[in-house]
Amino acid sequence: MAENEEEEEAQFLPLPGFGYHVEDDDDDDDYVDDEAEEEEEEREMASGGDAVKSASNFSFDSTLPASHAYLGTDLEEFSGRTMLDEGSIQSLPVLCDTLLLLVPGQTLPLHLFRPREVTMIRGLVAKDRTFGVLAEGPSWAAGDNGQATPAFGTTAEIVQCSVESVHGIETAKLKAIGRQRFTVLDLRMQVDGNKIAKVQILPEQLQLSCLSSVHLASLRGFSCTSAKPHSLYRRKFCCACITCWPSWLYALYDADTLMDKITRHLRQWDQKLQDSFLPNNPIDFSYWVASCLPIDDGLRLQLLRVASAVKRLRCELDILEKCTSLCCKNCRCEITTQSDIFSLSRSGPMAAYVNPHGYVHEALTVHKTTNVNLAGRPSTQYSWFPGYAWTIAQCRHCGHHVGWKFSATYKELTPPKFWGLTRSALRPTMPRGNEEEGTSSWRPCL
Ligand SMILES: [Zn+2]
Repeated sequence: MAENEEEEEAQFLPLPGFGYHVEDDDDDDDYVDDEAEEEEEEREMASGGDAVKSASNFSFDSTLPASHAYLGTDLEEFSGRTMLDEGSIQSLPVLCDTLLLLVPGQTLPLHLFRPREVTMIRGLVAKDRTFGVLAEGPSWAAGDNGQATPAFGTTAEIVQCSVESVHGIETAKLKAIGRQRFTVLDLRMQVDGNKIAKVQILPEQLQLSCLSSVHLASLRGFSCTSAKPHSLYRRKFCCACITCWPSWLYALYDADTLMDKITRHLRQWDQKLQDSFLPNNPIDFSYWVASCLPIDDGLRLQLLRVASAVKRLRCELDILEKCTSLCCKNCRCEITTQSDIFSLSRSGPMAAYVNPHGYVHEALTVHKTTNVNLAGRPSTQYSWFPGYAWTIAQCRHCGHHVGWKFSATYKELTPPKFWGLTRSALRPTMPRGNEEEGTSSWRPCL
C-alpha cells in the first residue's frame, strides 16, 4: 500500500525531484493563496499587463519546449518515416503503461527505467523503430464490446533516443512521434515480460469535396487555388446553384472551410500562428488540432475513432465553439477559461512532457487560473520550460493536483509567469442541457 501511495505521488508530482512531499494544509508557509495571485495579476493587467498577452513581446523562444532539452542533449537522431500499409495486419511490440492516448503526429517523450522496456527499445532502434501505444487507462480500458482488452492504439516511431547506464542501471530516454491508428486483434505477453500486439492499421479517409461530382473537368485549369479565401469560397461553391442544396450546406462538409474556421479559433490562442506552420493536409491538420484540444480521454478517443478527416474537423469545431471553460475533473469547479489558453510553444498550447519518474503529462499553457492553490516552493529542476521555475498547483476545493505555475527566473523574460495545467486533471465544461449527463456522454456534432 505504501508503495502504491509513493507511486501515485511520483505520478502527480511531476517535474519535481525525488523525495518531495506535499505540505499539510495547516502549513501556511508553503501555500500561496491565489487571491493574492489574482490581485497581483489584476494589477499587472491594469498597468499595461496586456504585455503578457501580446505575442510581439514574448522573448521566450517558442521552439524550446518542443526540443525537450530536459531529456539531455545527447540523444541520437534518426531520419526516415515508417508508414505501414493501411488495412495490413502487423505484429508490434507495445508499451502498455504510457497512459497517454497518443494522437498521430503528436510527440511522445519517454524516460523508461524497466530493464525489459530498455531491452525492447534497443531492439527497436536496430529495426524499424516502430512500436504501439495502447489506448489503455482507467476510463478507456474497455473496448466497445466491454472487453478488458484495449481495442485501439497508435503506432509511434522513435526519432531520437539514448540509452545510458547510471550505477549499472540502464535507462532509455527517447522521443517518438505518433504515426497511424490501429485496432488490436490480439495481445500476448512474451517470456521477457514485454507484450506483442497483433494489430490492423486503420485507413485514413478524406472525403472529396461534395461538389466534385458537378465540377466540370474541362474547367479545372481555371481553378482558383491562388485566389483570396473569400473569393475562393464563393467560387468554390458556385456550382451549388445547379444542385438541390444551398452552398452553405456544402460548406459544412468542406475540409478547407472547416480548417479555415478552426484556424480562426486557434489564432485567439496564438496571434503569431502562421499558415505555413499549420499542416496543409486535412488529415494531419485534424490530428494536430486533436492533440492541442484540452479534452478528456473519452472525447479524444471519440476523435481518434473517427475515420473521416472531415467528420473529425466538424467535431473539433463543435468542441471549440461549445466548450468555453475547463473545470477540475474531480470536483468540477472552474479552473480556467478557453480565452486564457495561449501557445507558448510553437507546437501549440498543449504538448506531452515526461517527468523524472517517467510519468507523461500533457501540459496546457494558460495565462490565468481560478480556484487553484500553490503547494511547495518553486524549483527549476527538470523544468519543461527553460528559464522558468515550477510550483505545484492544486485544486482549492478538492486538493487534486491540476498542474504547475511557471515563474520566470529572470525579470526580462516574458511572459513573467503562466500556468501549465495537466490535461488528465481537467474536463471541458459542457453546453447547458448536457451537463447532467456528464462529459463522457456528450457527443459532439459529427
Ligand atoms: Zn477539484
